[in-house]
Amino acid sequence: MYINGQWLEEGPTFEVYNPATGVSIGSVIDVSNEQVLDAVAAAEAAFPAWSKTTAYERSAILTRCHTLMMERQRTLAELMTTEQGKPLKAAMNEVKYAADFLLWFAEEAKRIYGETIPSARSDQRFLVHKQAVGVVAAITPWNYPISMLTRKLGPALAAGCTAVLKPAEATPLCAVAVFEILHEAGLPAGVANLVTVSDPKPVGEIFCTHRAIRKLTFTGSTAVGKSLAQAAAPQLKRVSMELGGHAPFIVFDDADPVHAAKGVSLVKFLNTGQACISPNRIFVQRKILDSFLDTLQGRIEKLHAGDGMEPSTTIGPLINHAAIEKIDRQVQDAVAQGASLHSGGRRLTEDGLEEGCFYSPTLLSNVSSDMLIYREETFGPVAAVIAFDDDDDVVAMANDTDYGLAAYVYTQNLSRALRTFEALNFGIIGINDINPTSAAAPFGGMKESGLGREGAREGLEEYLETKLGGLSI
Ligand code: ADP
Repeated sequence: MYINGQWLEEGPTFEVYNPATGVSIGSVIDVSNEQVLDAVAAAEAAFPAWSKTTAYERSAILTRCHTLMMERQRTLAELMTTEQGKPLKAAMNEVKYAADFLLWFAEEAKRIYGETIPSARSDQRFLVHKQAVGVVAAITPWNYPISMLTRKLGPALAAGCTAVLKPAEATPLCAVAVFEILHEAGLPAGVANLVTVSDPKPVGEIFCTHRAIRKLTFTGSTAVGKSLAQAAAPQLKRVSMELGGHAPFIVFDDADPVHAAKGVSLVKFLNTGQACISPNRIFVQRKILDSFLDTLQGRIEKLHAGDGMEPSTTIGPLINHAAIEKIDRQVQDAVAQGASLHSGGRRLTEDGLEEGCFYSPTLLSNVSSDMLIYREETFGPVAAVIAFDDDDDVVAMANDTDYGLAAYVYTQNLSRALRTFEALNFGIIGINDINPTSAAAPFGGMKESGLGREGAREGLEEYLETKLGGLSI
């Protein structure tokens, strides 16, 4: 852990495991509550000076962080593959995506503009000024163990906030590697602090109730996000929540079914389905269903599960055994209720995979609304296909969820694309596009998928207060 510019290496530890092999790859300090309080105190003490630095100084440090991260792209990617499981190529892409946030917010720091507003009184002037929110507490997940940190730290530091970050207990080593970069880039002591813990609950309580913390930013499950937002509410702390999703993927009959199926196979199995924007319900218009399913099945059967460090691996392990059980429960429930299983549907334990957390890439069709998979986020390598006939029906079905993060639409008809884009209640919509994300674009959900946006100008606003000055002259 890293508190007030110091690496602390003494104390109890917990182990970190490679999900592909079950082998321990290292250990990190298991922080005590007192040490979490020290980290908050360090961030509080560093805030006055850091928030007064110029945007140009903050930008220079973030730019150095970007350079260091790109110089270490391969080393960081190898660490990520070993700790989290995704294939090395995907880990390389994630490190680049993570570095993008540092550079984007380094640039955007210089554009934190205020405003003047005309008054109805000739002797009055209004000035609108932006200032840093204060000390930020950040909690990050294991599925994107580097980019989810920079997506929070980039804008927080650019805005002039100081921070205490708690990474997921499955992926603390990636967080340590990010903080080594912040340290080497010359970030002043106390500005960003890292607390690694095996039990997140007590830290969550401190983050939600400590008076010095003005803002909580969280990425993780909807259940935990809701309970943290409730705990932070008595002090009306600012909260940003990036929570679960249940993305519909709609393929209309004028789309090329082969192209659409290839798109699904790429985005659905990315990160072994462990992404909040992963398609969870794939709606295909009946006329093109058979050719869509044939192509998708062919692509799925070519996927090669294994250790992400092996060049032949195209799909890595799940994060732990609990994830396998949850996915298998959804698949078995669907099959018991009449879904057709085209491929997969079981844990993989042969060919050296027995010690890892592997589940075979799975294709289900005939999925219906009373099945668990239709309602619950899957977070695994299962493509669930539902046939539809009518445009209005499919929009109603797609919107019939408490989640509202991502959705995808495939059609060659511009009117249909726009009508559907406008009618869907989701924060991120890919239209003939499976990767509608970028450091420059606002990412976030409607309904129970979250509050606030990350990335883009909106992502910086989350760390800024608006202050009005009214002057008589
Ligand atoms: P997942 O089920 O995908 O692991 P979680 O929401 O449990 O998602 O985890 C996301 C992050 O939230 C992790 O950093 C985890 O340690 C943290 N977390 C989980 N439970 C709590 C809690 N009660 N208080 C604070 N943080 C928590």
